[in-house]
Amino acid sequence: MAGAGTDAAPIGTGFTRPVAAIVGRPNVGKSTLFNRLVGARQAIVEDIPGTTRDRLYGEAEWRDRAFVIIDTGGLVPRAEEGYSALIREQVETAMVEADVILFLVDVTAGVTAMDSEIAEILRRTLRPGSGQAPKPVVLVANKADNPRRGEAAVEFYELGLGDPFPVSAHHDAGVRELKDRLIELLPPAGGEAAAGQLRLAVVGRPNVGKSALVNAVLGQERVIVSEQSGTTRDAVDTPFVYKDLPLVLIDTAGIRRPGKVERGIEKYSVMRAREAIERCDIAVLVLDATEKLAAQDLHIAGHVADASKGMIVALNKWDVVEDTEENREEYARKVLRRLKFTPWAPLAFVSAKTGLNVGGLLDLALEIGETRSLRIPTSEVNAALREAVAAHPPPSPGRRAVRIKYATQAEIRPPTFVFFANDASLIHFSYRRYLENHFRRRFGFEGTAIKLEFRSRRE
Ligand code: GDP
Ligand code: GDP
Repeated sequence: MAGAGTDAAPIGTGFTRPVAAIVGRPNVGKSTLFNRLVGARQAIVEDIPGTTRDRLYGEAEWRDRAFVIIDTGGLVPRAEEGYSALIREQVETAMVEADVILFLVDVTAGVTAMDSEIAEILRRTLRPGSGQAPKPVVLVANKADNPRRGEAAVEFYELGLGDPFPVSAHHDAGVRELKDRLIELLPPAGGEAAAGQLRLAVVGRPNVGKSALVNAVLGQERVIVSEQSGTTRDAVDTPFVYKDLPLVLIDTAGIRRPGKVERGIEKYSVMRAREAIERCDIAVLVLDATEKLAAQDLHIAGHVADASKGMIVALNKWDVVEDTEENREEYARKVLRRLKFTPWAPLAFVSAKTGLNVGGLLDLALEIGETRSLRIPTSEVNAALREAVAAHPPPSPGRRAVRIKYATQAEIRPPTFVFFANDASLIHFSYRRYLENHFRRRFGFEGTAIKLEFRSRRE
């Protein structure tokens, strides 16, 4: 089975579908339900390094919605006491990777200790402030082969996860209803959502040409501006269509605070930028090519990095500079030297005045929008992790060896990778930076911040 991981590529790369994971103790019917949901389609077995299990990925479709099902099963029953850790690992990983969790129980067995243990883990993360995004859980009561057994499902209320959903995976009863419930809970596919609303914020210091650039963007030949602009407190949102894709331009330039004198204006521009950055996918940081980079520019770029957004550095007023290869290189060097927190941000040499390369700026934004929606298959993420660790093992400060066992891409927009280690607190900042650089070399992600999270997992 090792090596099958590369076959998993079609599931992740390039397009994004929501993911549902099936969790539950052994023998409740996970593989039976998985096969029902996937139907005749091919399942893909993925060998997860550093863990004791394989898992199955399958593509499923219901009422025109495509999604991915993971069967996290494959538990190898060794010793009874070994189960606990395995189950925790299984459930935690599912919670990281999946958008919806199907928690399967067996009505013929009633509530078992292991069911309660799984429910406890699931409930913990559903609590606000758990540090994890709450994921919907559907409690599926399997083996409800007849009405009497279906009624027995009420017993599972005590798990504190809402209404048990009776099905018989084996007899294909209740499965359609379950699929209906599932697609209600799944988020829209990444591609759809990305195309639906790519939000660009135009930010920068006063007088760099933000208003002019906004006008140049909206005045592009291929841009169709919608009538309905909306003003939020500190910005104007203008929906528009470019190359058949709907975008929103968040413009912080037009609004001037009444009664404020020039003195405070730089500060307000940073505040406005910050608010716009929070709401955008990609920030267009406008710089004036005829001026030096200022502290405010670095502050704004810092906010973009902190908020894990995409960014394009627009060197505006390029009509004033002689457009030569040498000049471009020299300016790029200067800018990159100072924008240390966002070395991944591409430059666009533009002129709002003449319209130079404004279309190129929008094309770049579309590309970055796609990059932010990429999902890297777990097998490739772990191959990259193994490579990085082999080249440079994490330094172990004390007697205890630091071991990073497993990683997975948990989210898109921004691409977010979660690393599971024996003790995450021992992983130094510089090592985290090293891993990020390694992942970027391997997977690209040009134009966007990516997030790396580290979690401890008991051995
Ligand atoms: P897993 O270990 O959770 O993946 O469970 P399996 O899918 O391998 O199923 C365990 C056993 O339960 C198998 O013998 C299945 O045939 C049986 N099973 C699965 N679903 C049902 C069901 O809906 N009704 C009944 N009666 N048996 C089922
Ligand atoms: P904002 O304060 O960032 O919104 O900047 P504005 O859009 O108001 O522009 C500030 C000044 O720069 C105005 O005088 C513009 O005419 C000028 N300007 C803006 N874009 C360009 C450009 O691409 N080239 C040149 N030469 N001047 C520009």
